[in-house]
Amino acid sequence: MTTEDNDFSNGTAYVDGQIVPVSEAKISVLDWGFLHSDATYDVVHVWEGNFFRLDDHIDRFFNGMDKFHLSISYGKDEVKSILIDCVRKSKLRDAYVEIICTRGMPKPGSRDPRNCTNRFIAFAIPFVWIACPEKQAEGLSLVISDIQRISPLAVDPTIKNYHWLDLVMALFQAYDQGSETAVVVDGAGNIVEGPGFNFFVVKGNTIVTPDRGMLEGITRKTVIELVSANSHEMQQRPLAAEEARSADEVFITSTAGGIMPVTKIDGKKIGDGLPGPVTMKLRASYWKLHRNEAYRLAIDYGQ
Ligand SMILES: *Cc1c(COP(=O)(O)O)cnc(C)c1O
Repeated sequence: MTTEDNDFSNGTAYVDGQIVPVSEAKISVLDWGFLHSDATYDVVHVWEGNFFRLDDHIDRFFNGMDKFHLSISYGKDEVKSILIDCVRKSKLRDAYVEIICTRGMPKPGSRDPRNCTNRFIAFAIPFVWIACPEKQAEGLSLVISDIQRISPLAVDPTIKNYHWLDLVMALFQAYDQGSETAVVVDGAGNIVEGPGFNFFVVKGNTIVTPDRGMLEGITRKTVIELVSANSHEMQQRPLAAEEARSADEVFITSTAGGIMPVTKIDGKKIGDGLPGPVTMKLRASYWKLHRNEAYRLAIDYGQ
């Protein structure tokens, strides 16, 4: 057996009923998922051999398909077992696992989305960090972009989608300014979210996160749950850029990296310029929760 024939170590993908090495997974250039960003998706992670909050991710995915008039022939339990198979076959203990439903393509000569056969794809690849643990130790530098997130009146931001040009253009602004990442704003100038993450500020005894115009992240939800069990007041409401600049602490949240401290905004230090104690305590609780039976699903890797 050559490595090319059967190399699942860089990840696996499920396409057309088969699990293949991720490098071999392909879709048609005519798929509307590619041509029109006409798709929904979700990302869940596997940490130390366990899925984290898998049911929450699958529920969000099915809810998004419903709202986008997409459907697949698999039920939630079938999707779950496909994902377990993908990870088991990859042997990855820490993985980034994505599920996608694309519109597919209409019949030749048609542009009627009702004629499309929707397509389901899944893949498991090595864990992806928005900021690696070393970077998290010093904190991220972030810019507050003047670019607006695509309006919630155009595309429902609570459904995970591939309308990312606003987010990617904001990233280029950040790089131009020597920063690592960015957040975008809504029509009123309030911060909404960044490329694949939610945004939080800590000021005195309160923790604030935007309540509209963004994806309701599972990591965000986990933070809200952790905070209500602790000593801070959690506020979900519009968040002005000024509040972020004058915060005691700032952090971002994502399945791709967990809870990550931000120590600079637009080139200026937040607080003393070090990851804050509230952020680091939440971060420790978040990773500890990964061992909790109620949140994890262990993968049996066999031999
Ligand atoms: C995925 C994503 C997030 C974070 O959601 P999690 O469920 O915590 O990973 C935030 N914003 C956008 C635009 C996203 O795509």
